[in-house]
Amino acid sequence: RAKKSSIYDIITYDDNLKLFLTNREIMLKDLNNALVNDEFIIFLQPKLDLRDKRIKSFEALLRWNNPKYLKRSPEEYITLAEESDLIVKIGDIVIEKTFEILKDYKNKNINIAINISPKQIIEQGFVNKLILAARKNEIEPSQISIEVTETILVETFDIVIEKIKSLKKAGFSIHLDDFGTGYSSLKYLKDLPIDVIKIDKQFIKDMSDDLKSEAIVKTMIQLTHELGLTVVAEGIENKQELEKLKILGCDYIQGYLISKPVIAKEALLKYNKTIKF
Ligand code: C2E
Ligand code: MG
Ligand code: MG
Ligand code: MG
Repeated sequence: RAKKSSIYDIITYDDNLKLFLTNREIMLKDLNNALVNDEFIIFLQPKLDLRDKRIKSFEALLRWNNPKYLKRSPEEYITLAEESDLIVKIGDIVIEKTFEILKDYKNKNINIAINISPKQIIEQGFVNKLILAARKNEIEPSQISIEVTETILVETFDIVIEKIKSLKKAGFSIHLDDFGTGYSSLKYLKDLPIDVIKIDKQFIKDMSDDLKSEAIVKTMIQLTHELGLTVVAEGIENKQELEKLKILGCDYIQGYLISKPVIAKEALLKYNKTIKF
């Protein structure tokens, strides 16, 4: 995540260097405590299938169940976790808790997507860990989608490609998240066994008053379909965006209009429910 790291770089060169370093250290200590005290929880955000207007899949989003951090986006602490290797431990918790949700839910048609960081995927034994966890919890790999961003493909390219191929072979779906915001290369779409492309919310947000963004969204949807893949648009906040995406032939939408990320139990109540607009 180059963009976020450069924000950290700017901070280190700031006059308030000492203060910001202290903040960072405090957060690191808090992150370590959170692991010990089991403060990480999973929220789920539904995705709506635009064909039948039903919810059958969700995205797992990390939340820090601590008064100081509950309202904060994981973006604020994931970067730090990634820099400090804590991300592997946190990632394991996300996997464990998401698999438990699936185990308890029993319905095998449900699918939950998990966000995976570069450091996690390149970790030795990562693919096997997922396969074994699925077996242990009696869930099918097809119930799990792995969301990776384009950034993952820049670092240690060959290992990542190999891991993604093994994940796909094991039956997990591969989703390319935040498409179009990183170091996009169309080559990835050709060389990688990707199932789903997620259009970043920034393009959706800009679509209403920017014809260029609309053209980009339209083209991404067409490209996805030409490649035989599925497309999800994220960050849908209003009816106009929904209507536009329907016209453009988008497959799934995700966003506050459907639901914010909420505790798993609450989100799962929406499973297979039709949403009327
Ligand atoms: P992401 O994977 O692209 O997740 C989508 C983000 O957009 C989520 O933010 C979600 O709450 C937010 N979002 C969804 N619908 C809307 C909408 O209609 N409007 C707006 N403005 N935002 C919307 P969140 O939960 O704060 O997560 C931010 C990022 O943190 C995620 O982006 C992902 O990159 C990372 N992340 C979250 N959970 C995990 C995790 O378990 N592991 C890892 N490695 N990264 C995670
Ligand atoms: Mg995601
Ligand atoms: Mg995204
Ligand atoms: Mg993102």
